[in-house]
Amino acid sequence: MIASFTTSDLTLSADKAYIKEFELFGTAKFTAYEFAPGILFELFMLLGFAETIFLFVIILRYYHKRYGTVLKPMPIVFSILLVAGGYDIFSALGLTNSIYMSEFAFMILLLTMAYRLTSNFIDAIDEVERLNLYLDTIVKARTRELEEKNNTLQMLSTTDPLTKLFNRRYLEDKLKKKVVQSERYGTPFSVILMDIDKFKSVNDNYGHDLGDQVLISISQTLLDNIRETDVAGRWGGEEFLILTPETDIVVCKTLAERLRIQIQNKSHASIDQITASFGIAQFKPDDSINSLIKRSDNRLYKAKDSGRNQVIAG
Ligand code: GH3
Ligand code: MG
Ligand code: MG
Repeated sequence: MIASFTTSDLTLSADKAYIKEFELFGTAKFTAYEFAPGILFELFMLLGFAETIFLFVIILRYYHKRYGTVLKPMPIVFSILLVAGGYDIFSALGLTNSIYMSEFAFMILLLTMAYRLTSNFIDAIDEVERLNLYLDTIVKARTRELEEKNNTLQMLSTTDPLTKLFNRRYLEDKLKKKVVQSERYGTPFSVILMDIDKFKSVNDNYGHDLGDQVLISISQTLLDNIRETDVAGRWGGEEFLILTPETDIVVCKTLAERLRIQIQNKSHASIDQITASFGIAQFKPDDSINSLIKRSDNRLYKAKDSGRNQVIAG
């Protein structure tokens, strides 16, 4: 807007305006009528200055962002004010014949203050954004930590510490779910109950520690030979349970046979041979978990009775 004035217009209008202004701050010799055009001119000028302040702030912010330099215009502006003030004193004394400069300098001061305010405000917003990001990172890290701890707890509560297979609690939970699924959709599933033969004599002859190693080694054999969908766990002591979903007793028997042979053929340091006996059962519509486990336990007992190292399915 300022740019639309011609040089002579600006000088003329500004001249009048500053005379009024001088009277306003000086003696109060003006009337409201006389003052009105001066006020209008001031408003007009202020609008122009507002626009300039805006542009000024934008340019300086850009400069600051682009070159990372923090401009410190205050000392320069105060120097301008000082010089302008001195110049105006000369004008007031009639030593020079020109318009008063203080107001222009004052405007520059306002402009600079506006810049600093805006700049601080933008910096504050940047800082809030930075803090937000920081908080976000902390919250995410804590959440991850909690999730990891949760997973560890979950793992501990479902895993047997010695063999790292699932524990009995987990197996019972899985069995409950399988029973519900089987009752609802009629999908078959079977269980294998396996007990290591004459394990007491392993402990007695080779020591408890070696007995533990055998338990770990046999657990690995189970894991290596079951399908991904099967669930193997330690039922207790030297007894294991394998849950085989979507599997009837015929297929289950094949799996149990494979496990029996793998265990029998596996060599264990300084121990002659380890074998295991198996009792298997398929879930029937009128079964409960107890009746299913009982049936496979009876068959396991039968396998033991019949000389061990065998699978009994009926
Ligand atoms: P059977 O063929 O009739 O099953 O004979 P067994 O000797 O295996 O059966 P028994 O129930 O008489 O003995 C089981 C042994 O398993 C006794 C117990 O000390 C041992 N045992 C149970 N849990 C562990 C364990 O965590 N580590 C070790 N080393 N031994 C265990
Ligand atoms: Mg045993
Ligand atoms: Mg036993």
